This record gives sequence, C-alpha cells and structure tokens, in this order.
Amino acid sequence: MPEIHFIDVTNRDAAQTARIGISKLEKTMINVYLGQMGIHQSEFAFPYIRHEQNYAMANLELQRMGVMGSLRLQGWCRALVQDVEASLTTGVEVLSVSISTSDQMIRHKFRGKLDRDSVIKEMVAAVTYAKRRGVKSIGANAEDSSRTDLGYLIEYAQAAKEAGADRFRYCDTVGYDTPASIYQRVKTIAERVKIPIELHCHNDLGMAVANSISGAQGAVDGGVDAYINTTVNGIGERAGQADLLSCILAVMFARDMDGYRIGDKLNLKIAAKLSKYVSQAFGIPIPINQPGVGANAFAHASGIHADGTIKDRRNYELYDFELLGIEEERIPAGRVITTGEYGGLAGMKYVYERLGITFHSDEEAYRILELVQYANSHTQSPLTDDELIFIAKYPEQVRKILTMTP
Ligand SMILES: [Zn+2]
Repeated sequence: MPEIHFIDVTNRDAAQTARIGISKLEKTMINVYLGQMGIHQSEFAFPYIRHEQNYAMANLELQRMGVMGSLRLQGWCRALVQDVEASLTTGVEVLSVSISTSDQMIRHKFRGKLDRDSVIKEMVAAVTYAKRRGVKSIGANAEDSSRTDLGYLIEYAQAAKEAGADRFRYCDTVGYDTPASIYQRVKTIAERVKIPIELHCHNDLGMAVANSISGAQGAVDGGVDAYINTTVNGIGERAGQADLLSCILAVMFARDMDGYRIGDKLNLKIAAKLSKYVSQAFGIPIPINQPGVGANAFAHASGIHADGTIKDRRNYELYDFELLGIEEERIPAGRVITTGEYGGLAGMKYVYERLGITFHSDEEAYRILELVQYANSHTQSPLTDDELIFIAKYPEQVRKILTMTP
C-alpha cells in the first residue's frame, strides 16, 4: 500500500515570501524541530545561492552527526545544469529542480525563449546531470501544474521518470485547483506514469490543505506514494501554503482516511513548540482560530458547547490537545537577566547556568559569548532557551551558520 510523507518547505517557500524573513540560525532550528517531529524531508535551502551555502553545509554536517533524526535535507534550484552544479558544491544529496510547464508561463514568462519541448529538455538535462553527479534523490517540479495541459504534464512526468527522477512535484502554484480537480488529475498521472507524486498547494482560494489531502488521495489511489508539501503555520508566498499540522491532523482524523497511511513515525508533541517558534521567528502571530495550536482551538464559551465538552470532550473536540504538546506559557516575573548582542560574560554565564550548562574555562565561555552575540545580531529577537542550548552544544556548526561573507 503506498504511503503519505511530508516535505516541509518552510525554509524555502516561507523564507522567500514578501515582507517577512528569518535568519540562518532560525532556519537551522526549524530543521532541528522538524527532525524531532519525525518529518520526512525539509526543503531547507537554495544551495546554489552563495549566502545560503555556509548554512547549507553546516546543516548537512549536523544532519550527518544525527542532530536532525532521520530528516532528509533537500535543496531547491531551477532546472538548470549550472544551478545543480553550484548546489552540489555544498555536498547536498537530495534535490528538487523546478521549471514552469503551463502555457501561460511558457508564453508569458519565457516569451519565446522556451517552448513545451525545450522545457522538458532543460528538466531532463538537469535531472540527468544531477544523477550522474551522484545525487541520491531528486524531484522534478512542474511549476503551475494545475494550469498545465494534462497530456503535456504526463509527458513531462514520464520524461522525468525516464531521466531518473525519484519524484514528480505537482505544483498548484497559484492555488487554482479544487479538491475534486486535483484528485482526478493526480490520480491520472499516478496511474499513467507510476512515479511518486508531491503535492505543492497554495492557498489563494483558501483550499491549500483540502487540495493537498485530496491530491494525496489521488496519488495513493493511483498506486504511488504521496509527498505533501507543507509549511509551518501555512506561511508562504501570497496567501500561503498548506499548513503542516492541519495536513497531518487531516490524514489522521478526517472522514474516510483510514485507508491512507503516514509513512513516517511522527511525534506531534513537538507541534505546538514548532508552531510557536516559527511564529516568533517570522514575527507573525498564530491566528486565534489556527487548527490545533490557535488559542481558541480547544476553547469553549457558549453554554451548550461548554456543557457538552465538560460531559465528554468528543462532543466538540475531534482529537486531544495533549497530542500536540501544548503547554501553559511560563513568563518569568520580577528580575529578568537575558543575554544577546550586547551581553557580557557574567550575564551570559548566569543565563546558561539556569539552563544547566556550565563552562570548563573562561576561554570557552568567551567563545560561546561571542557566538551568542553574533546569533542575536542575526535573529534580532531574544534568543530562546533551545537556541542558547544549541549554540553551546554545536559551536563549530553555529560559527559556520553565522558566517556571511559577501
Ligand atoms: Zn510554492
């Protein structure tokens, strides 16, 4: 029976979104949390862009050290041999290559430079080159799949498979599909081409999660594994993406999903922490009505609802909040000592002692203090306990992550 996996693209799609951004250290922490959660893969970097390369190499190193569990780190680039070549200098072994396939984009983006045939040729050249250079796993993305002629999309997916691609990414780039249309289209591609299919759905019409689930059902019913692309809190280009937790909860608890299996062992206890971290890192509050982790996701006020929930939570709650690692917020009162960009040794040692970390020598403490100062000058928001612990545990990798030399 084919399975459903999750590929989180927060560190690529959300990171490239207008008006918001995160630091390389924050991207790293997101990878660590995704690893703890048991997520299959993180689209973690643009490894061909120079300012991403130290971050990418340090994260690949951390992954080899076992810091990210079984999470696979996958780079994204354009379906161009030169992008693949530049990406491989980081040592990345999992890639996605992307090119537009709709007539809208071929005509109005490429403007005569490429046609349907040459689009397939470019993708095939990039995939073939990557495979020859030893890339272990590669996905071929069809940007604007939902507005692409289905016959041509099948041809593209078939060519990708023959070139050695491991996955085909069906991109609903502008959120055009409906659950019914994406189910049918993806099922047809699955049956005809027999290649594992990724669902990459945007939320322009508010259907990203529904379309992702429906598309995954289409892939599985068509006989292939499905890989749902998500972002934490649904943050992404324009109106955003399919929310990671919503998609997981839907596969677990929605009607008639019994026949669909998640292929990874997930630890949802990380979900609330991850959601809160991403919210703070991007500076975007979690909506009060966010599925699972919103402040009102398990709140009941009206008489009938409160009475019903007190009698039996299943009256108004489909799943248990305990599953998601939701904890009461502890805000320290009275005197608070923090450390960061302009901090000194005494304050830094005090903060670390409270986290159970002491230093063997002043030299070591100064080394960590400098990293703390740099880290905070990158994040520009108070360093979290997990960030501070991470800095002390992996100073060499953190130094690399914080190194930006134009
Ligand atoms: Zn996208």
